[in-house]
Amino acid sequence: MTSQDFAPTAGTAARLPQERRVVTEIPGPRSRELQQRRIAAVPPGVGSVLPVYVTDADGGVVVDADGNSLIDFGSGIAVTNVGNANPRVAERVARQAGRFTHTCFMVAPYESYVAVCERLNRLTPGDHEKRSFLVNSGAEAVENAVKIARYATGRQAVVVFDHGYHGRTLLTMTLTAKNMPYKQGFGPYAPEVYRMPMAYPYRWPTGPANCGPEAAAQAIEQITKQIGASNVAAVVVEPIQGEGGFVEPAPGFLPAIAEFCRESGALFVADEVQTGFARTGDLFACEHEGIVPDIVTTAKGIAGGLPLAGVTGRAEIMDRVHGGGLGGTYGGNPLACEAALAVLEEIEEGGLVERARRIGEIMLPRLRELAGRYPAIGDVRGRGAMIAIELVREGTKEPDPELTAEIARRCHARGLLVLTAGTYGNVLRFLPPLVIPERLLLEGLDVIEAAFAL
Ligand SMILES: *Cc1c(COP(=O)(O)O)cnc(C)c1O
Repeated sequence: MTSQDFAPTAGTAARLPQERRVVTEIPGPRSRELQQRRIAAVPPGVGSVLPVYVTDADGGVVVDADGNSLIDFGSGIAVTNVGNANPRVAERVARQAGRFTHTCFMVAPYESYVAVCERLNRLTPGDHEKRSFLVNSGAEAVENAVKIARYATGRQAVVVFDHGYHGRTLLTMTLTAKNMPYKQGFGPYAPEVYRMPMAYPYRWPTGPANCGPEAAAQAIEQITKQIGASNVAAVVVEPIQGEGGFVEPAPGFLPAIAEFCRESGALFVADEVQTGFARTGDLFACEHEGIVPDIVTTAKGIAGGLPLAGVTGRAEIMDRVHGGGLGGTYGGNPLACEAALAVLEEIEEGGLVERARRIGEIMLPRLRELAGRYPAIGDVRGRGAMIAIELVREGTKEPDPELTAEIARRCHARGLLVLTAGTYGNVLRFLPPLVIPERLLLEGLDVIEAAFAL
């Protein structure tokens, strides 16, 4: 088998043809019919990037109700890192479903939950003693990290950053930076949340070279003056920002913030919900600058699409909370735990960390070359298989959300599923499954190029 025909589980062939195939308008007639039913049944507050109704998906393609086969550059928002319907995941989940589907870990426990926690403890950055527990969503993981940090420190303030995204619950939407669509009209927000400048290299006033140390100094100055360092329970940060537009903090920023936390007794919480599980070319994005967080939150890529999330932290912090203080009915559901165990095997045996690096090595030069020809591409950034381009009006850094939406539409019409992001809505982000066949990845890049040429 060559890298051209990379298959998720060693020795298995893809179930569906790994090809782009557009046989109707996108969305096609059957999807449009289903969209009408949806409009009558589901409130518009729940959006969809591309209303094609999915009937099948495998590896790097998503097939819709009209028989179109789309190249997947979204992975369900960085979830199906090991490929959609990964055979090993599907098999373990099916086997578990035939045995027991739920007991509630808080009622009567089972081994797979413990095994997932053991692996999270071993695989997350740092070789100190750790504990983990499991919940259902990224937001729930972040919310629990804050609960634990407050409990363990006896402090209340939580520091977050510009462009940050942490979820949609009351606390996590408060932690989230962007008003529309996440916060508008949903207040009042939770108290004791403070937002600091982010080291956003492309938009830093004095340029990317100074960005890391300057942004860290500004953030630490503001924390000290506005909150008081001794009042901070936790600093919550995404090692590469996701919804905020794949903002990769300038070098030195995260280490300086981590150092501040160490000195002041605040807990450094790395929100690895989007960056985790090989996505960025490291198992966790914090590894890139050798950061060892006090608490790590994980979700998305953890279980190949089954709803699962984790909170992993230093044993002495996690063990503080009284019995019964943490948990939830479905947290660590046995089907999701089996899926997570399969995902971790796939990442290791499939060499998916290296695959993610390879995807970045293919995508970044191609997109940089494109940026050289299209001045609307102001910035190309990201690591591994978490890559983005930021679109601006020619000759300026003024965001161009209209062009961004138009390029996304053109990609969709040609059978490439891409997502947008960013505080200004002007970022196209690419999150291919790490198992995408190389030829499909290249074809996806051709589609992006054609979308600009139009
Ligand atoms: C998606 C995301 C969340 C929220 O996860 P949900 O499972 O949607 O609740 C939190 N943090 C980051 C960084 C995310 O990307």
